[in-house]
Amino acid sequence: MPRIAHLAARKSIVAASREMNRLGINQGTSGNIGLRIPGGFLVTPTGIPADELEPHMIVRMGFDGRHTGAFEPSSEWRFHRDILAARPDVAAVVHCHAMFATTLAIARKDIPAVHYMIAAAGGPTIRCAPYATYGTQALSDHALAALEGRNACLLANHGMIATGPTLARALWLAVEVETLAAQYWRVLQIGGPTLLTDAEISVVQEKFGSYGLQPRRAGVITSPSGRRRSYGRPR
Ligand code: 13P
Ligand code: ZN
Repeated sequence: MPRIAHLAARKSIVAASREMNRLGINQGTSGNIGLRIPGGFLVTPTGIPADELEPHMIVRMGFDGRHTGAFEPSSEWRFHRDILAARPDVAAVVHCHAMFATTLAIARKDIPAVHYMIAAAGGPTIRCAPYATYGTQALSDHALAALEGRNACLLANHGMIATGPTLARALWLAVEVETLAAQYWRVLQIGGPTLLTDAEISVVQEKFGSYGLQPRRAGVITSPSGRRRSYGRPR
């Protein structure tokens, strides 16, 4: 059997696709994943449910939009390409139709600073991009604008996008966005939130730079701000 290029990356996409369903942030054939590789990116194939996905079905694409192999790429390959092309800090893009994020996106609401963890999305709001038909260049353009200075956004009447320097971080952020969306949705039922100020969120962003460091252990940590650093030496 011929050797499959980027096998480890393909396997990580299959695993993350299944994990999205297990976590309850996606379902059916909704959602897709893009992951940067040298000279281009890998993206999930269109219309295949996560539990039927296999590594060889993952589609390899160039930034010119060309692809190789027997499988057609996700209908959303344009926003995967455009985000990866515009954002050198991003290596992975996760898109899903999580319940609470999508509910707020149907109401076309940005998520405000209801909880300090919003700092993990890059600032004091998670914007909701205007509506455009799935799979269009217009949707990609709207998503890119909503992601300005941010790692995540909502897509009106559709779902969310979360990005990261690794696929694990992008998936982690998707869960955080869904959690913030659920918190916001709930507090709207009981009179509405008291919001944190932009200054409070800046303090948290700064503090995230050193969050979770364990000086007595050696390892690598990615802070909620997405910065990776190695730390410590075992004694
Ligand atoms: P694909 O199956 O083409 O990736 O589409 C799913 C989706 O979520 C479209 O927005
Ligand atoms: Zn979608």
